[in-house]
Amino acid sequence: MKLIKLGPQQKEWLIRLLRIALALGIAVLLSQFNLDYLESWTYDLRMQSKRPTPPSGHVVTVAIDPQTVEELKRDPNAMDHVRLLGRLAAARPRAVVYINPPNEIDGTFEEMKLFADSALQLNQFIVAANRLPIKGQEEQLKLDAPLDRLTVLPGPKTSDQKIFAKDDVTRRLIFSYHGAPSLHALIASSYNGLRYDDLHAMQDFRGIFDFLGTYQAFIDFRPSGTYRPVSFAQVLNGNFKAEDFRDKVVFVGADTVISSADYIRTPYSREVVAMSTLEMHANMTDTLILNSAPRKGPDWLDLLLTSLISILTVYVVLSVRPARGLLILMATMISFAVVAYVSFAGLGFWIGMAHPLLSIFICYYFFIPYRLIMENRRSWEYYQRNRLLTQVEELKSNFLRMMSHDLKTPLARIQGMADMVMADASQLSPSQKEALATINRSSEELSEFIGSILSLGRIESKEIKLQLHSRDVNTLLADVIKKSEYLAAKKGIKVIPEFEPLFSIKLDEDLIRQVFTNLIENAIKYSPENSKILVSTEEINGHIVIQVADQGIGIPDEELGHVFEKFYRSNEVKNSPVKGSGLGLYLSRYFVELHRGRISVESELGKGSTFTVELPMSLENSEVQSLSN
Ligand code: ADP
Repeated sequence: MKLIKLGPQQKEWLIRLLRIALALGIAVLLSQFNLDYLESWTYDLRMQSKRPTPPSGHVVTVAIDPQTVEELKRDPNAMDHVRLLGRLAAARPRAVVYINPPNEIDGTFEEMKLFADSALQLNQFIVAANRLPIKGQEEQLKLDAPLDRLTVLPGPKTSDQKIFAKDDVTRRLIFSYHGAPSLHALIASSYNGLRYDDLHAMQDFRGIFDFLGTYQAFIDFRPSGTYRPVSFAQVLNGNFKAEDFRDKVVFVGADTVISSADYIRTPYSREVVAMSTLEMHANMTDTLILNSAPRKGPDWLDLLLTSLISILTVYVVLSVRPARGLLILMATMISFAVVAYVSFAGLGFWIGMAHPLLSIFICYYFFIPYRLIMENRRSWEYYQRNRLLTQVEELKSNFLRMMSHDLKTPLARIQGMADMVMADASQLSPSQKEALATINRSSEELSEFIGSILSLGRIESKEIKLQLHSRDVNTLLADVIKKSEYLAAKKGIKVIPEFEPLFSIKLDEDLIRQVFTNLIENAIKYSPENSKILVSTEEINGHIVIQVADQGIGIPDEELGHVFEKFYRSNEVKNSPVKGSGLGLYLSRYFVELHRGRISVESELGKGSTFTVELPMSLENSEVQSLSN
């Protein structure tokens, strides 16, 4: 079999595709799980926080309430109901719906007959059945004589007991069953003219969905108390205005807080008596009259959103820094929740939230270990490489140190011999004298270079310990200036000291001398002939401030930050005949910082540079110990 060889770019694409495939796999797998409980919870939150749709005004409720029972000293009997229907008939409502079975009303056969007669006097009288009839046996719903003439229509309660969220909350209404409308559909249709009898026309009602042989919709709930019931007793007493009932649908039922069967749990509250069944019917009817049932997004939308969010999460977990990734995921969650909320509150469109949100957590926890393994592997590789580099670095400095040390002795010998010949130069020709001077200068340069390399070695192996003694900085500087006079005189450069009288301070003379020598020699090296160098000292805020200012070539802005680095030489001088190692300023900074001081530079290209050293006036031995360790 021939294996296809992949380039690094193709490999990267393959890995990317694999990740996307894995994220999609998780999304598809997750969508197989029924998360109705969680989904309903987010649904309830949205329902609670949105502004309720105002009622249509077509629905009123009459409640057999504690006041009624108190006034009558019992539950209303058949004759009370006859009187109630009489009062209602006078107000001409469009329909009266009894939600408690009238056959449970207390009364003789004759009285019940009278009740049925009064009911039939009304424009429309419906008895709500709290169940659906078996198909073909609709007759089952009929009441016994003498109530058999009354219209009974299904209008059951629908709590999510064994289906959907299984939390006993009522969220749905039955629209129709085997082609027969529920009483709510029938009433709504009489108000808004929409049709319920044809499968196609029925779709004009929002959010109707097919479920186990019924058509159903979600209730657009209003909080409990929105429909204030008129007391049964109040109607009996004629204590109402006729227009309160004219052309309305009147639901009559019990609200006495005696039987839990008269109540439902709602998305607003899971209390047993969260809302009376009376008010539930009002909500169901208004949902259909106003045609405002929330519409659930299709399954493919759920899957699409879950997939997109999974892919994003996988990308964020594997490719973004953890803290930033977490922020991005939180922002995604919040934005998604806001979109879901706005579409629900504004458009009545219910976007599934459970699957997409859960996919974030699952993808996160699935891919985090993978990321950790990858990072671990990478840091192990770094560690190995770093170790190798440190070893090479150590070898290099050891080698340099040994070399420099071994070079010192022969070099001293060359210098000694040259000095000896110079001492008796009377027989030498001018060109020979010149050659000897060159030998001397070159070996001095070499010796300085070796000195720097040795200092570097000492720094890197942390061998340097400060030897503090009280010294006057002005004297030290004057000494260094004197030693560099020869160098300056050759270029006609004037070094001008401008010293303020100072107290002696504690310092390591050798190291600070190296710093000053380096600064002054650099100033001479990088200045044109016949220019001036100003060396000044003063005392500012407990520090001695030394400045070396020249009128030399200056340092470009972009290189200013680098001149104190090891082996750094500016581009300008690298190709010039001016010799140097790039170590002087690095060592100077190190030595100054050992003294708890600071060194800095200001420069303007072509105009000159000013190096400033600040040394603290009070430096204790103990402080220095901790620094040099
Ligand atoms: P070098 O041995 O090259 O002088 P240094 O560490 O002393 O090394 O200085 C580093 C670089 O900083 C020099 O190569 C030069 O480019 C720049 N530099 C230092 N002092 C001056 C100065 N007085 N004027 C201009 N450039 C300077």
